[in-house]
Amino acid sequence: MKVLVINAGSSSLKYQLFDMTDERVLAKGICERIGIDGHITHKPQVEGKAVFDEDVSLPDHATAIALVMEKMLSAESGVISDVSEIGAVGHRVVHGGERFSASCLIDDAMLDEVRACIPLAPLHNPANITGIAACRAVLGDVPQVGVFDTAFHQTMSPAAYTYAIPYEYYEKYKIRRYGFHGTSHRYVAARAAEMLGRPIEELKLISCHMGNGSSLCAIDGGKSVDTSMGFTPLAGVPMGTRSGDIDPSIIEFLADREGMTVDAVLNVLNKKSGMLGVSGVSSDFRDLWKAVDAGNERAKLALDVFFHGVAKRIGAYAVAMGGVDAVIFTAGIGENGAEEREAICKNLGVLGLALDTEANKVRGKEKDVTAAGSRGRVLVIPTNEELVIARDTVEIVGA
Ligand code: AMP
Repeated sequence: MKVLVINAGSSSLKYQLFDMTDERVLAKGICERIGIDGHITHKPQVEGKAVFDEDVSLPDHATAIALVMEKMLSAESGVISDVSEIGAVGHRVVHGGERFSASCLIDDAMLDEVRACIPLAPLHNPANITGIAACRAVLGDVPQVGVFDTAFHQTMSPAAYTYAIPYEYYEKYKIRRYGFHGTSHRYVAARAAEMLGRPIEELKLISCHMGNGSSLCAIDGGKSVDTSMGFTPLAGVPMGTRSGDIDPSIIEFLADREGMTVDAVLNVLNKKSGMLGVSGVSSDFRDLWKAVDAGNERAKLALDVFFHGVAKRIGAYAVAMGGVDAVIFTAGIGENGAEEREAICKNLGVLGLALDTEANKVRGKEKDVTAAGSRGRVLVIPTNEELVIARDTVEIVGA
């Protein structure tokens, strides 16, 4: 079966077409600036087919999907000969609330439940729904599946997901920890078990997804038992532009001193904080290292704040699980950042974990980077959320 995987944002749409007979990617790409003007980058992964990188008119998501189909079928850049070859579509859906603990076939009732989660993810879920509607408009009744960022974390216990605020707010508004990046944490945990040659049921893993957004996840026996993001993806470790955890009193204090609305303060915490906010340089770790090399102290401080935040949480999760068999690094920084991994692992000896600095000189490849004599393992595992979405889609549609 060929499966189209869609990750729809408010003005963008990323896609990958898989041939699931061998899990090969046939084509991938991104439509950007949807509703503004429009740009498509289409990259066939088949020999002899041309890459398209051009400005186009993309007034809405349905136009974008129609154009993607045109590119998939065209003589120059096509990888299929008929739309009917696409057996199913898998969608990334950010928030499934408490309703979805697994991926799910999309129908009208299911869409209503995704809509009911909009207050929990006001930016993301509407965009995901738009992507689903666009695929329906262009592809008709091809089965579609929703794969949720939150679903993997639905195994957390009430002790891990309950905020210590009046319980009525949980009952009334479902305010609790949800967690995100679940598809990524699930993928790397399964790969770690394969790499270690042990059943996932007997492993205690800590997955560090470190990209523009970062989250850590404690995975005991294959199940998420705690994670650093919370009610929203603003919580947890410091990120590119997001603050991560801060004392909530700062919000009122800043609103008062700077004459800002709560909305404006939250915008600062989401878009102007984290690495960018502390360094004043950039949210991108590569830029931060360049600045450090040029003697920029605040860039150094931003990195140290990140390393401290991540390492501290690895310790917390090892305690929460009563041990750790492996720490996994994934996503842009986790997969590529050798210096970052080394800095984070510096004090993990206390948990019986040691990284081999030579083996650690690796970018974007699966590798066990554990030092000799280390009790637990340190693993670099590139994530592949799209493949998980495609696999779930085949499983659900096949069933
Ligand atoms: P992601 O959100 O997973 O795409 O990750 C994006 C982040 O990965 C960027 O902001 C960079 O800071 C980081 N990144 C990408 N390549 C490298 C690299 N070679 N070394 C360190 N960080 C990197």
